[in-house]
Amino acid sequence: MGRILTGRVVIATHNAGKLVEMQHLLAPYGVEAVSAGQLGLPEPDETGDTFRANARIKAEAATQASGLPAISDDSGICVAALDGAPGIYSARWAGPGKDFAHAMEKVEAALRERDAFTPGDRKAWFVSALCVAWPDGHLEEVEGRVDGVMIWPPRGDAGFGYDPMFLPDGHARTFGEMTAEEKHGLPPLGLGLSHRARAFVLLSEKCLAR
Ligand code: IMP
Repeated sequence: MGRILTGRVVIATHNAGKLVEMQHLLAPYGVEAVSAGQLGLPEPDETGDTFRANARIKAEAATQASGLPAISDDSGICVAALDGAPGIYSARWAGPGKDFAHAMEKVEAALRERDAFTPGDRKAWFVSALCVAWPDGHLEEVEGRVDGVMIWPPRGDAGFGYDPMFLPDGHARTFGEMTAEEKHGLPPLGLGLSHRARAFVLLSEKCLAR
């Protein structure tokens, strides 16, 4: 067991889709979540070269700026045939307009360039690195992953980002076709399917109390 997260907590994200999921995931744990956006905190540059390093940059920046404990997620989709790209650059592939239809087209074009057409050629995994940082410098860090394949055309309009293109292993519907509960509902009621849900399960074992 690490240090328990209680009271007011900053969710260190400016990504609306992620914010909704993280609020949902934190709801059972009696923490009062406020977002970095609501507090007007600046968005730090993500200069790390791993998900974990970038999660730490975001949580540390938010806790230092607010004086509250902060929780961050750095996440992305890694495609095996693309040597793990877009990976930590998943948000950047969508460009300044955050156009994920375009980002998914880029992934599809890169897969075609590599003659990756069968499910076996199109393996991918989402990663979520979560970091909780306290103002005194204490950190708790975990990482979750979910494996699947990149399909084309994308299906569904739920979720965000690359969800419509990602078919998790063992399922017939993409993340874009799943309800929030199916995608990231936590056990015992949910499957704990998504990378973020899996990371949350690990985090809850370390530092969340019901
Ligand atoms: P970050 O805000 O730098 O961590 O960027 C993460 C990016 O990865 C997001 O903007 C999405 O494009 C993508 N991503 C992360 N998690 C998910 C997810 O659960 N579904 C779909 N896309 C995701």
